[in-house]
Amino acid sequence: MVDNVEKLIPTDQCRRCGACVVACPVKAVTLKEYHAKVIGCTGCSSYSEGLCVEACPITADYSILEKRVFGRLRKDDEGFGIYRRVYKAISLHPILRKEAYGGGTASALTYAALSSGFVDAAIICSWGDGEPWRPGPKIIRDPKDVVLGLGSKYFPSPNLRALKELGDAKRVLFVGLPCHIIALRKMQYSDKPSLQKLTQRIRVILGTFCGIPAMLTAESFAKYVSEKGVPLDKITRVTTACASLLKGIRTYRVHTTAGQVDFSVLMLLRDLQKERLRCDENCFDYSSDLADLSVGGTIPPELPPRYLSNALFVRTTAGEELLEIAKRSRLIGTRKMGSLFLRGLRLFPPYWRKRNRYRQYRKERDAV
Ligand SMILES: Cc1cc2nc3c(=O)[nH]c(=O)nc-3n(C[C@H](O)[C@H](O)[C@H](O)COP(=O)(O)OP(=O)(O)OC[C@H]3O[C@@H](n4cnc5c(N)ncnc54)[C@H](O)[C@@H]3O)c2cc1C
Repeated sequence: MVDNVEKLIPTDQCRRCGACVVACPVKAVTLKEYHAKVIGCTGCSSYSEGLCVEACPITADYSILEKRVFGRLRKDDEGFGIYRRVYKAISLHPILRKEAYGGGTASALTYAALSSGFVDAAIICSWGDGEPWRPGPKIIRDPKDVVLGLGSKYFPSPNLRALKELGDAKRVLFVGLPCHIIALRKMQYSDKPSLQKLTQRIRVILGTFCGIPAMLTAESFAKYVSEKGVPLDKITRVTTACASLLKGIRTYRVHTTAGQVDFSVLMLLRDLQKERLRCDENCFDYSSDLADLSVGGTIPPELPPRYLSNALFVRTTAGEELLEIAKRSRLIGTRKMGSLFLRGLRLFPPYWRKRNRYRQYRKERDAV
């Protein structure tokens, strides 16, 4: 099975980083085979076209995609990619704001899109993909279900898998990380009809920032949780919660038949390093620069939500339309982002790391 894929992906192209886990549009890559040579690959090339190669965000010709989406390449000072407007934004929906990662902007936009009929389905990432402790894609149609996506899960979620499960939905909102968005754009502009067909119902793409150097794996999380005395078969669900600043900030809250246990996200990131997915090492897109709308956190990132707003970049006409709807429905509040705040966002090390990688990519590409 894996051999087949090895023949298909020239070894000099495949970096074994596991980004295909996130982007694969065919079969859930469960990460059960995390240590297999091609991480988590289910070997679809034996019956399909090896769609990971098509969707792989790492081997994408990013410049071509940027030109297709925006009609031009970014200038050197456009560190957050090409955009029309940038705001500080916050959800005005109290529940979404309380449980969100930051200001709840991503969830409020999704809520607005579904409740206004701008889209009839949304692909989000929620806990409970097969096992309660595994994050994965979820297709929602009822705006009330937006709560299922609240909070950042620092795990790979094969969101593109949901594209082939959309049923009769005609207009779809997609939420994802930069890797999802690159893969999605790559598929949209592919000359393969099968890939175009999978993506043709996408109406608006909502990207979040991603600067995390270590993506956790659901398997190592499950092992960790059970070693801490929580039996896996007693887990009913997991939620993303926000403890107070003093208590250890953001947590993954594991609900069991006997009660609930909080696991600090920062501790998990520290303790589960060995098993991490190394997709960040090859990625140079920090702020989902190919999305219609991009949402990021504020600096410093670890604050209780009441102090937070989001950075919101509006990049395309579809993005402008959705923001307008969200503002009119009083689901989102926006304020102009001052240059000082924008400069503050640029101080964040992951931004720099990725920006330098992007410059390197452009240098090498332009030299060809
Ligand atoms: C792995 C990861 C790394 C991140 N790194 C940074 C960073 O370096 N800097 C920064 O400013 N922001 C980062 N973010 C984004 C940030 O955490 C928030 O998602 C973003 O600011 C939106 O906040 P919000 O309050 O609007 O989100 P919410 O309203 O809570 O909504 C979060 C949205 O993100 C989606 N989501 C959550 N986890 C995943 C996942 N694993 N895969 C795909 N979609 C997911 C959910 O479906 C939901 O729609 C990261 C997020 C993730 C998941």
